[in-house]
Amino acid sequence: GGWIGILGGGQLGRMTALAAARLGLRCHIYTPEAEGPAGQVASRVTVAPYEDLDALARWADSVDVITFEFENVPAASLASLAGRRPLRPGPRALEIAQDRISEKSFFADLGIPTAPWVPVHGADDLRHGLAHLGGPALLKTARLGYDGKGQLRLDPTSDPEDAWRSLGQVPAVLEGLVSFSREVSVIVARGLDGAVACFDPTENVHRNGILHTSTVPAALSEDEAEAACRVAIRAAQALDLVGLLAVEMFLTMDGQIIANEMAPRPHNSGHWTMDACHTDQFEQLVRAVCGLPLGDPGRFRPLRMLNLIGDDVLDWVSHLARPGARLHLYGKHESRPGRKMGHVNFPPTP
Ligand code: ATP
Ligand code: MG
Ligand code: MG
Repeated sequence: GGWIGILGGGQLGRMTALAAARLGLRCHIYTPEAEGPAGQVASRVTVAPYEDLDALARWADSVDVITFEFENVPAASLASLAGRRPLRPGPRALEIAQDRISEKSFFADLGIPTAPWVPVHGADDLRHGLAHLGGPALLKTARLGYDGKGQLRLDPTSDPEDAWRSLGQVPAVLEGLVSFSREVSVIVARGLDGAVACFDPTENVHRNGILHTSTVPAALSEDEAEAACRVAIRAAQALDLVGLLAVEMFLTMDGQIIANEMAPRPHNSGHWTMDACHTDQFEQLVRAVCGLPLGDPGRFRPLRMLNLIGDDVLDWVSHLARPGARLHLYGKHESRPGRKMGHVNFPPTP
């Protein structure tokens, strides 16, 4: 026993495998990419495409439980795994979070506010949507977008035919641009027994659509912080999720918390937990999926996480000299623009 299967070979899998190793557990990574960040540190790696159902089956049979660091696993692959080993989180959480239309409908069903939005399947929907929203808007592909990729900023005068063509003619959502005062996220862990443990809300700043910094404590009132945690907990419970759920939110100018999107896995905006919490997000994931008691998510210091993107990583040695700082590099061989190479956690200067 004691084998965790992780689908996905990136930095989230790497940090999960490191946390598992600390508890004496072993990880078998399944990834299409040889020599990736997770495979370098895991006990076993299978390198094969997500669509290879035979390789997936052999991999599943070698582990005790399956989790994910990558949520866009094809539905047929998920279905083929579901009968073999426990999937934590289950396929429903993944299916909902894979698609912005089902994700926003899920929030709406729970009474959790979102930006105003309409589903878009063609230029006509887009024309009506732009008129309906009546102001600046974002057109986002329903699937596979990340780091702001697959998004177009539009306004009521934009040409819907042009916009639809440049997005690539896939299902999409059009959402009203929220003028938020802060952007925050909450990561909640939910155990096999239904226990929940919420990390402190973190305040996020994006640059060029990519997360730049996450800072705790977030500048939220006690009521706002509590409301943010309640949103994440309610969503995790409604999904009957075992594992982690990260919910990205906006705090509006009038103090309302509205949900942006969610991810049923460890999240970049939770990397600060590695150096500020009694139990970090990766250990919490390992505990949850293995049916172990959740750890104390309490925070013992203020912290800021800075992502090292692309060539930011070249002066990594300078971060080692920073007082109170902890550097985490992902072992990626080549830096490319926009690529997440590592992060550094350090005490924020006031
Ligand atoms: P991720 O890498 O977090 O998965 P993503 O590509 O899925 O990102 P979103 O999180 O939807 O995209 O959007 C990226 C960023 O763009 C948000 O974090 C936020 O800063 C901004 N943004 C997105 N939607 C809106 C909106 N409706 N109003 C204002 N800003 C928005
Ligand atoms: Mg996203
Ligand atoms: Mg996002």
